[in-house]
Amino acid sequence: MVSRVIPVDPFDLVIFGGTGDLARRKILPGLFRRFCAGQMPKDARIIGAARADMDAAGYRDMVAEAIAEFGGARACEDGTLEEFLDRLDYVSIDARGEKGWQDLAEMVRGDVVRAFYFSVGPSLFGDLAERLNTHGMTDAATRIVVEKPFGRDLASAKALNRDLAAYFDESQIYRIDHYLGKETVQNLMAVRFGNMLFEPLWNSQYVDHIQITVAETVGVGGRGEYYDRSGAMRDMVQNHLMQLLCLIAMEPPSKFDPDAVRDEKLKVIRALDAVEPHHIVRGQYEAGAEGPGYREEAGDPRSRTESYIAMKVGISNWRWAGTPFYLRTGKRLKARSSEITVVFKELNHSIFGEQQDHRNVLSIRLQPNEGITLGVTIKEPGPGGMRLVDVPLDMTFADALGEEGADQTDAYERLIMDVIRGNQTLFMRGDEVEAAWAWTDPIIEGWEARGDVPKTYDSGSEGPVDAVQMLARDTRVWRKVAP
Ligand code: NAP
Repeated sequence: MVSRVIPVDPFDLVIFGGTGDLARRKILPGLFRRFCAGQMPKDARIIGAARADMDAAGYRDMVAEAIAEFGGARACEDGTLEEFLDRLDYVSIDARGEKGWQDLAEMVRGDVVRAFYFSVGPSLFGDLAERLNTHGMTDAATRIVVEKPFGRDLASAKALNRDLAAYFDESQIYRIDHYLGKETVQNLMAVRFGNMLFEPLWNSQYVDHIQITVAETVGVGGRGEYYDRSGAMRDMVQNHLMQLLCLIAMEPPSKFDPDAVRDEKLKVIRALDAVEPHHIVRGQYEAGAEGPGYREEAGDPRSRTESYIAMKVGISNWRWAGTPFYLRTGKRLKARSSEITVVFKELNHSIFGEQQDHRNVLSIRLQPNEGITLGVTIKEPGPGGMRLVDVPLDMTFADALGEEGADQTDAYERLIMDVIRGNQTLFMRGDEVEAAWAWTDPIIEGWEARGDVPKTYDSGSEGPVDAVQMLARDTRVWRKVAP
């Protein structure tokens, strides 16, 4: 297959927090890979911005080190790194003060796309927006990119939306959820709406239940204190799992257009049922061969924050009433694996008189080994009558599409290029984020009011046994957490 890389328009990208962890690990190496792929025009410019005193040469050295450490392009011609570094500049700026703002206003060009990436803590979003406005950098050619977490509850998300809306139109605001930049997540939409096969069956008449799993093997490590203030519900469910749920459950948008897609996602969030306490299992990992237990890493021996969550979610609309969605995510689990599984109902009647349960199961693997597997029932080969067996129709993208199927364009690369192109389809709209918090808040408030203590689970396991029991009560089982 021939790769089709379409260069984007010339741009100035300012990265506030340009010396931070996210910029060094994801944003800058990602931009370099896009440069190598020929997607970044030669006259694009990237300006790092942070308080540290540094000149452009010092910043280029820092970025070169970050690219060496966190992965540049696999195949990039000699000399390309230097060409890329030539596009970089740096400004020492204080988001909360006056230092550097005039310099920045003089550096950015007025005749190209201007994107400002807020890769700093959310407490600085309002200051940045205000100062961009004071210094004349909020016109229609300007876009701002904001990182998660977008609030920690509905009230704080509303306050952030208000701070940004004071100076920017919603069409200028790009709220990142990097899960939406993953290739397979977009494939969810391609599979559902690009094939005749699935959509007619995509409803409670034919689908028994759906599982969404995002399992990690790592613990909270050095981020323990930060993580302890959020937990799996805020860190993973309210954003990433909710976005996956929306894409799986939404009605077909009339076209693949940012607002048409986001309108449909919003309707799903608004149709979510309140979750009963006995339909949620929270967990905390214990010490194991992989490292210390959660409470030790969080630095609080009495912490009640969850590193694992499993829940049963209902959607009250015509399509999904009666089909449960089971979501789970956790740290220090057996394998790193993200998967969405659609389990279809049993046949109404088997002409083969078999007692065994044969169901079609569609699995969409987000990581690792991105791909799609459809479990189908066939005749077991050989003589001896009609015995049925389930086999997987497996499409691992790397096998099916060769080099390009394995194309690991990172989510951040894709999303930044979308910002420059002005395509908001894969970014969360303000009302979507607020609706997600409005659903999440009462759940968290309930735990706090009841003093809910998470169940413990072994590091390297599949999570708390209570999560297994929750499905067993519905005579269902979780898919194995396997790489
Ligand atoms: P970080 O490593 O702490 O970096 C923060 C950056 O902001 C530094 O460049 C810092 O440089 C700059 N900064 C701090 N205060 C400033 C001020 N008053 N004015 C101007 N610049 C200032 O943080 P991070 O991990 O990169 O995270 C950045 C944002 O991305 C956060 O909202 C985080 O939640 C989000 N995020 C991070 C990750 C990740 O993997 N790291 C993943 C998802 C989301 P100076 O101190 O020199 O000013």
